[in-house]
Amino acid sequence: GDLWEFDPAPESANPYIDPRYGLFINGKFGAPKSRKYFDSINPGNEEKLTEIALAGEADVNAAYEAAAAAFTPWSKLPGAERGKYLYRIARLLQDRSREFAVAETIDGGKPIKESRDFDLPMAAAHFFYHAGWADKLDYVTPGRTLAPLGVVGQVIPWNFPLLMLAWKIAPALATGNTVVLKPAETTSITALKFATILRDAGLPPGVVNIVTGAGETGKAVVTHPLAAKVAFTGSTAVGKWIQHAIAGSGKKLTLELGGKAANIVFDDAPLDQAVEGIVNGIFFNQGHVCCAGSRLLVQESIADAVVSKLKIRLRSLRVGDPLDKNTDIGAINSKQQLEKIQGLVESGVSEGAELYQPSCSLPKKGFYFPPTLFSEVSQSHRIANEEIFGPVLSIMTFRTPSEAIEKANNTPYGLSAGIWSDKGSRVLKMASELRAGVVWANTFNKFDPTSPFGGFKESGFGREGGKQGLLEYSNLI
Ligand code: NAD
Repeated sequence: GDLWEFDPAPESANPYIDPRYGLFINGKFGAPKSRKYFDSINPGNEEKLTEIALAGEADVNAAYEAAAAAFTPWSKLPGAERGKYLYRIARLLQDRSREFAVAETIDGGKPIKESRDFDLPMAAAHFFYHAGWADKLDYVTPGRTLAPLGVVGQVIPWNFPLLMLAWKIAPALATGNTVVLKPAETTSITALKFATILRDAGLPPGVVNIVTGAGETGKAVVTHPLAAKVAFTGSTAVGKWIQHAIAGSGKKLTLELGGKAANIVFDDAPLDQAVEGIVNGIFFNQGHVCCAGSRLLVQESIADAVVSKLKIRLRSLRVGDPLDKNTDIGAINSKQQLEKIQGLVESGVSEGAELYQPSCSLPKKGFYFPPTLFSEVSQSHRIANEEIFGPVLSIMTFRTPSEAIEKANNTPYGLSAGIWSDKGSRVLKMASELRAGVVWANTFNKFDPTSPFGGFKESGFGREGGKQGLLEYSNLI
């Protein structure tokens, strides 16, 4: 636990979670100047987990001042020294991965097998990968060098709380910037636990500051005059707001926003493999995935076969307690998100799509939603256009490759897409015609720190990961 300078903390309900969390500013935890806290609940059983500080403008300002003071010494450290901190952070994350995986699961609702086998190893991998770059920045663009920008303001969503933090903090530190980061209000715990890793790694105070709160705190982070760059991952609506709010300020901006990815299955695809890929594409992390394969486009001749295989597969998905190692679909992150999913599913039924849900008994407490398929979906339905961000798949058919491209691209989003086909030439041609930042072939939801990730169109701009991700945190000189 951490020491409270002012406020007495209540009893802790969980050994991995402190009873109350303050703000992490200038290397120390402390009470917010606002004196306000909000509750963080476990979406798996609706019980209160802890209290989190609500950062007001004065707190965000203190975080920026700490980050600005830390910038010059941090940016002047030799890259190899910055790299050592990043390696240390990566190793500490590995050492504490069980604790972090449990905290991520009870705070956000995702199945423990995903936190344990995906979020934690991927977050550590991002720090290892960027640690390796810290002393090699001269090689990113031969003949040029990368200069850090200054203080960067970062705001992240609730679907991959620790992993999104790693995507943001690792490249920023490797390139010599300092950070003010705000996690999402429903999933702040692993970001605050991560602050203890920064402290244990000996990171100089002020290099990373974590401020917690909801949209108002986020506004203060993205509009702060000391922010040289803003990096945002979240909804398209908020991304657009930020783009307007900081227009003309000279701040560099990257936006990773929503998606409505098409997963396109041809009649020559290995069907059983495709069915697994479709299921992973939409039910991974309850469908709370910006690049979820939420629109299945299946070639007409195999549509019936694919739909019936999917229905059988759905019956074996286990929905329930996120901490149970056998759970495939955990809890929906919040009541608000559950209601959004329910509303969109009702619209699918009332607009005439055909609903399929396997019978499953959901826990009485907590926010749960069964795996859901819609067939007979037409392009005009809301479920074909709006991001549901839940375990709901909308199935449409096509006859020719050009019709598949036309339907796949018929969305304001452009984050990712999947193609399932045995024909290499078709895959390559389709990949070049799909307006999506990531195209997977005969697989889905594959991520790697070496591969840049990011959107086209209203899915945002800028790339995270790979060499391109480093350029987003630098000026080329
Ligand atoms: P959201 O936009 O509501 O919130 C995201 C973050 O922004 C939260 O931390 C929130 O507190 C903060 N915020 C809210 N209003 C703000 C404002 N006016 N100014 C600054 N910050 C503000 O999104 P969400 O519901 O948390 O996340 C789900 C969305 O994120 C989905 O649309 C999903 O597709 C997207 N997402 C995109 C990617 C990607 O890489 N493209 C990855 C994950 C999630």
